[in-house]
Amino acid sequence: MKIEEVIKDELNRLLEIKTDDQFTVEAVYYRGDTLCVSSQLGCPVRCSFCASGMNGLIRNLSYEEIISQYELAKDDGLNIKNIAFAGIGEPLLNWENVKKAFWYFKEKGLKCSFYTTGFPIKNFKELLKLSHNGINLSLHAVTEEKRKELIPYGQPIKEILSVFEEHLSKLSNRKRKMYNIAYLLIGNVNNSEEEIEALGEIAKRLNIGVSLLKYNEIEGIDYRSTSDDEYEQAFLKLREKGIRVTLSNRYRTRKIGGCGTLMVNRLKMPVDS
Ligand code: SF4
Repeated sequence: MKIEEVIKDELNRLLEIKTDDQFTVEAVYYRGDTLCVSSQLGCPVRCSFCASGMNGLIRNLSYEEIISQYELAKDDGLNIKNIAFAGIGEPLLNWENVKKAFWYFKEKGLKCSFYTTGFPIKNFKELLKLSHNGINLSLHAVTEEKRKELIPYGQPIKEILSVFEEHLSKLSNRKRKMYNIAYLLIGNVNNSEEEIEALGEIAKRLNIGVSLLKYNEIEGIDYRSTSDDEYEQAFLKLREKGIRVTLSNRYRTRKIGGCGTLMVNRLKMPVDS
């Protein structure tokens, strides 16, 4: 593998890395210490709002291809302290390779966090037991119907939350701070007052925070972003309920600075031979 291109803005770097079979893997460096790595080429979860899932899965990345994203970025002079498994792909659907990479990163003294839809649940249960440094469970909906529309191949809400809740019930408040519900606000889709209210109730019951993400509009996908005002209203409503809320930060709202749910993917097919 080799770095093909680095797209920079003043805050972030998007690394486009060429595989030996001529696909492009994306890794994003942000916050001056974090590398967001991809786990698959394309994504089988096919979230309806995500460019990475538009064409489904091309193939899993090998263990070597996952750790190479870090090695190449490090050799390029980047100071990396944290790894976020939050790039393209659902880490739980390439679980054996992701787990191996996780242990490799841990041995290097790096902190590892995950963004996941929680599918498949068997692997989600295993992930919860790892010595990770944070899990963001991508919920994005509060009803099964909406969840199915947004994350067609995700785990149903009821099932995933019951596993999550059982795990969280054994943890101290301090440890719970490592867990969040990730909720991508999409204009006129999942941002009604009732939905935010229900989201707050879920977070309250689980006693964890909400990572409130703002949707970046993507060409070819018919969803719109929320206005700044709508975004703020959702934030205030959750805060009123006493929920710890993390907002999309300026790194994530930049087009090259998002990971997973927000990444505007420029996934490239192999060059015609
Ligand atoms: S949002 Fe994440 S899980 Fe969903 S299709 Fe995109 S990369 Fe896959």
